Amino acid sequence: MPADIYVRYLRLNERDVAFVCGSDEHGAAITIRAKKEGVSPQEIVDKYHEINKKAFREIGIDFSIYDRTSSPEHHKMAQEFFLDLNKKETFTKETTEQYYDEENNQFLADRYITGECPKCNNPSAYGDQCEKCGSDLSPLDLINPVSAISGNKPVLKETSHWFLPMQRHEEWLTSWIQEGTIHGRKLHNPKEWKNQVTGQVMSWINSGLKPRAMTRDLDWGVKVPLENAEGKVLYVWLDAPIGYISATKKWADKEGKNWEDYWKINKETQEAETKLVHFIGKDNIVFHAVIFPILLKQQGEFVLPDNVPANEFLNLEGDKLSTSRNWAVWLHEYLEEFPDKADELRYVLTSILPESKDSEFTWKDYQDRVNNELVAIFGNFVNRVVVLTNKYYGGMVPESGEVLESDTLIMKEVKEIAHKIGESIEAYRFREALAGAMSIARIGNKYLQDSEPWKLVKSDPERVKTIMKIALQISANLAIAFEPFMPKKSKSLREMLALSEKLNWADLGSFSLLQENEKINEATLLFTKIEDQLVEDQLKKLASSKANNLPAEPTKEEITFEDFTKLDIRIGTILEAEKVKKTKKLLRLKVDIGSEIRTIVSGIAESYSPEEIIGKQVSVLVNLAPRAIKGIESQGMILMAENNEGALSFVNPSEDYINSGNSVS
Ligand SMILES: [Zn+2]
Repeated sequence: MPADIYVRYLRLNERDVAFVCGSDEHGAAITIRAKKEGVSPQEIVDKYHEINKKAFREIGIDFSIYDRTSSPEHHKMAQEFFLDLNKKETFTKETTEQYYDEENNQFLADRYITGECPKCNNPSAYGDQCEKCGSDLSPLDLINPVSAISGNKPVLKETSHWFLPMQRHEEWLTSWIQEGTIHGRKLHNPKEWKNQVTGQVMSWINSGLKPRAMTRDLDWGVKVPLENAEGKVLYVWLDAPIGYISATKKWADKEGKNWEDYWKINKETQEAETKLVHFIGKDNIVFHAVIFPILLKQQGEFVLPDNVPANEFLNLEGDKLSTSRNWAVWLHEYLEEFPDKADELRYVLTSILPESKDSEFTWKDYQDRVNNELVAIFGNFVNRVVVLTNKYYGGMVPESGEVLESDTLIMKEVKEIAHKIGESIEAYRFREALAGAMSIARIGNKYLQDSEPWKLVKSDPERVKTIMKIALQISANLAIAFEPFMPKKSKSLREMLALSEKLNWADLGSFSLLQENEKINEATLLFTKIEDQLVEDQLKKLASSKANNLPAEPTKEEITFEDFTKLDIRIGTILEAEKVKKTKKLLRLKVDIGSEIRTIVSGIAESYSPEEIIGKQVSVLVNLAPRAIKGIESQGMILMAENNEGALSFVNPSEDYINSGNSVS
């Protein structure tokens, strides 16, 4: 969405833009799914490529090209790029031990392997990244790793790969990120980058970049075009960004343009005459602001990103979006259930873009924004202007009489806002830009409310002509100001006002967009109200996905507060842990509860190994009557939380000032 707004703005400014996106078709999720469904990966990607492409088109994302990385053209370019980099000694070849799934005869890298995150203990971290804490991981970091394909415990096996020694690039990356310069040459203004993007990149660099394998042992992907590399493909994050380049080439060839103009430094001046901007989410920062720039710089002829305005995450109704848990609003379903309301969604999403921190979509907020802003302000204003113009003047733009000081002030205000909207878009502050566009509608709406032409028309028809002409010009300004955000509505408004198709951004703020005695068309409703029922239906739909995910657990019988206070729960610290012989689940623990050390037998051995829990704080029910378990007297019980898959997690304090013996109530 932000990319589309930015591009529409650039096009309105008659700038030359290649707006490129595509389906990344070599990801692990695709092959894992194909295996589960018993079909080929190609069948999976063919299906989703079409669905994605259609959904993007219907929500009005106007790509120059929406390509795909399984295309032969892309494979060719990615291979050539790799060979070129290999010739330039970008990679080192190393033999390492990697996890291997013996049942499927496959090495397990990245998303093919899951396990517990060593940093935050998220039990379902991937081999390349923990989605919970954002840590960059390697499969060897995972605690209790399992194959994502078979669920089996993997074994270690030797294999050779081409590695990118990222640590070699730390120095120039630091100056590029912090100063925007490489070897003294200014490339971009680092102040234009978002703090959280530079912050994230610098924290990676400061914690020490490591060599990263750029190839994988897989049968799906771009084949490594070297001898003795059978069964190896390029790492998906090497091949996917090159997809931007191959897509640009495909588009440029068709348009009779030169793709290199969009990607390469001018050979003679050595200056960048093109600007590369990556619009992504924060989970992809490392690939676009570290790895891809290293590859581009190594190649030598390419520009580096001018900016990577990554967004934070958008949550949904109080929970993290998750496509696997179906906690999502699916675009194709939205477009079916809310026909002709693509732009309303664009408006609401832009209003709540997680530009600097995570934000949240709720259906109530969607309804409020559509009804109270789009219908009540924007739509109401435009509708009144067009209806009254038709009623009073047969649809002709009236001739203006004397322009009062109050009129001049309104026009000045609109001009100033118009200028600011452009500045905000260029600074990647789309929420602010949209609020600016909306304030033009607010000004127009207030202008009509205050001057009440429908009352004045009887006593002072000349004054009403001036008011209506100014209100018409404000409406015409709205058609330009909203074009980047709501292109379909903007088009309807242009048609209603019989405006020229040729208007561009420079016309925004003008009060001569419509000429006197030009004829406009009849009013059509730009926006309609979202009824409560629609919101309720959507909430019901989400509730049912939640119900499908959670086994329905009725709450237990009600108890009194006195019942609860009988439980003496305290924080303890695990001092020792060992497996109870001949059992699968039991660990024998020594736990410091502040006043004494207790022996507790706990059924947690399938979730935790003894070594990893030494020193952990836990919650202990200390006044439970002692029980003999496998011949050991257990003097208390450790509280555990359990997820749907049966994985257990300690219930422990979130702050470090809580000590052993502190009570829980
Ligand atoms: Zn983590």
